[in-house]
Amino acid sequence: MKRPLIRKKQHVGIRAKLVCSLILFTMFVLISIWLLQIRLLTYFYERAKFDELDEAYESIVAHFGDADFDEQLDAVAQSKGICVRVFVISDGVGKQLSSAEAGSDCMIHHISRELVSDLYAQAKANDGRYDKRMEFDAELPEDEGFRFPGLHRPSDITSAICVRIATVDGAEYCVLLDSELTPLSATVNTLKVQFLWTALLLLVAALLFALLLYRIIATPLTAITHKAHKLAAGDYTADFEGFGYREVEELADTLNFAAREISATDHLQKELIANISHDLRTPLTMIKGYSEIMRDLPGENNAENAQIIIDETTRLSELVSDLLDLSKLRAGTKKPELEVFDISALTGETMQRYEALIKHSGYQIAFESEGKALVLADRTMILQVVYNLINNAVNYTGESLRVRVSLTKREGVVRLAVADEGAGIAPDVIDQIWERYYRVDKVHNRAVIGTGLGLSIVKSVLEAHGAAYGVDSALGVGSIFWFELPLVQEDTAQ
Ligand code: ADP
Repeated sequence: MKRPLIRKKQHVGIRAKLVCSLILFTMFVLISIWLLQIRLLTYFYERAKFDELDEAYESIVAHFGDADFDEQLDAVAQSKGICVRVFVISDGVGKQLSSAEAGSDCMIHHISRELVSDLYAQAKANDGRYDKRMEFDAELPEDEGFRFPGLHRPSDITSAICVRIATVDGAEYCVLLDSELTPLSATVNTLKVQFLWTALLLLVAALLFALLLYRIIATPLTAITHKAHKLAAGDYTADFEGFGYREVEELADTLNFAAREISATDHLQKELIANISHDLRTPLTMIKGYSEIMRDLPGENNAENAQIIIDETTRLSELVSDLLDLSKLRAGTKKPELEVFDISALTGETMQRYEALIKHSGYQIAFESEGKALVLADRTMILQVVYNLINNAVNYTGESLRVRVSLTKREGVVRLAVADEGAGIAPDVIDQIWERYYRVDKVHNRAVIGTGLGLSIVKSVLEAHGAAYGVDSALGVGSIFWFELPLVQEDTAQ
């Protein structure tokens, strides 16, 4: 039957999500680049300049008092490309001690004494340190601006000025350091153009990459979805592939497993319906047929025909009650009602049911027991198990007609074994005989006695008790069906 596919609300597809995510990521990268490379370029550049001046100051301080201080100062100024002026302060009055110039457009060599005093005062008020970014036109009085030789556009100059105050051997020094700040506008403009191209290229690459990723991810998913639709439509042959990706491989394995399980369940369901209908219909047909014969033909109204009707009715009610038991056991609605009883006595009682069979049909059913064996279990259920196992042994023992039931005790458990000398069970089907309606002999004929549910009930009952069970069988030799239950000590039982 073709099941309608219920379509849920349409969600955003993987492709759209991938494209959006990658574009967002690219935007984040671009914004970071723009901020750090373009927006904050001047800030980082100036920070580096001030750090450089600081380093230079440290080197200068180390040479205070040296005889060759002037040469050292000059060396520092030349190597760093900066200008320095050193003042010694006594009684609040500064006197230039030394000076070095690396370039001609130096600002600190051209400013007035007042401005120097002002810078000194700022440093003094700030723990001996003062950093200043000084622009020519904004900061300097007009007359000071004209002291710059060779400058036509004074605003071209911006400097990083560091003022430091140091006290060495009781003397106070003021050091003025100056490094010209190169205008970065041209560099920033170049970077902006570059940034535009980079942004464009990155966005296109992100788009292409997202589409490529989508193909890689979506191809296996689309294939799996396609096959899953086939599976949903009842085609259990669908073989899911993993395309070499671990996660998809796991999904494919799960789906393959589900497909196998659904197929097996479907198969079982069909078989079950076929078998049940067959099993129910056959006795009903017989009952109906024989009843009609007995009604219509007075000569046939005999005990023999009545017995057939009774047998078929019994068979029918057995089948129905077996089916009921099994359904309840499997659904978990029937739970074992535990009581302590002697399983040896129970088996002995069961054997009595076979007396007529032994007397009239020549069966030899031996029962060997090691004596009283108390167990804690559901008496009725265990009786059903013993009965089913002996019944099967009788049905399948073949021409030898011999069945041996034995009860042995060891290490706190009692083991009940039912052995026959029948055809045995082939190793390849031995695990399946416990399944519902499984028959080694696939031909579902009347000659086969039993409902096909016996071992399935045995399995369900024993599993509900947590008991060990199994079968040892050899083709042409026979089978031994067995199960074990823990023994209960007599004093504990009371
Ligand atoms: P059935 O009503 O057919 O006996 P069971 O569930 O009791 O159903 O058994 C399932 C199948 O297991 C049987 O059809 C038979 O093929 C196999 N089987 C069960 N008991 C024996 C046995 N003692 N010897 C050989 N085959 C057996």
